[in-house]
Amino acid sequence: MKANDGHLQQGLRRKLVEALGREVKDTAVLGAIGRVPRHLFIDDTAFLRQAYEDIAFPIGMGQTISQPRTVAIQSSLLQVVKGEKVLEIGTGSGYQTAVLCELGARVVTIERMKPLHVRTKARLAELGYKATLLYGDGFAGAPAYAPFDKVLVTCGAPDVPPALLDQLKPGGRLVIPVSAGQDQVMWTVDKQPDGSLLRREHGRFRFVPMLTQKVAG
Ligand code: SAH
Repeated sequence: MKANDGHLQQGLRRKLVEALGREVKDTAVLGAIGRVPRHLFIDDTAFLRQAYEDIAFPIGMGQTISQPRTVAIQSSLLQVVKGEKVLEIGTGSGYQTAVLCELGARVVTIERMKPLHVRTKARLAELGYKATLLYGDGFAGAPAYAPFDKVLVTCGAPDVPPALLDQLKPGGRLVIPVSAGQDQVMWTVDKQPDGSLLRREHGRFRFVPMLTQKVAG
């Protein structure tokens, strides 16, 4: 087990997984959440208990680590198969990245805020998670690493960025919260083998907005 992950943390995490399990039935996702030490993705160790409550939490630069319920639902909608290449937009704390790694995905993740990108790159390496972290604009995706089996957007998008659909394999799925008034509606967009798109809605959520400008540190 990873350093700084004692009985107390594991106990709190078990309770969180139990609570999430009442709504999310995906055992692979629940297993992954059960293995990621969420308290190590929150900078202030004084907030140990809050790390395992079902709340979003500030991670600096006006950004937040997503609420565990949201991570569980998005991860489940993504239906990751071990070995698949997944593009994540909005690295943030790296928590969702770690959950995807635990699901066996090969993850490429983009963050537009340099300080978050730098800090999270160091954190994931320290915890032994091997993902490709890019500093850039998620609207453009990561053409150098395309195509992807799955794409996951973890900030509220004004609409589906065309580049992300272009970089999705036929048979692949995009999970994206799309703005609708004050909050967002979670969409899955499946690219069918013939290239046509199938869109479904999965309820309302609240994310920080997806912004175009890169923020340097
Ligand atoms: N997956 C993250 C969620 C962080 S919140 C986690 O588990 O912690 C969403 C993140 O998206 C923020 O860090 C924000 O800076 C980033 N973001 C916003 N617009 C973006 C864009 N256009 N490209 C890449 N990242 C973006």
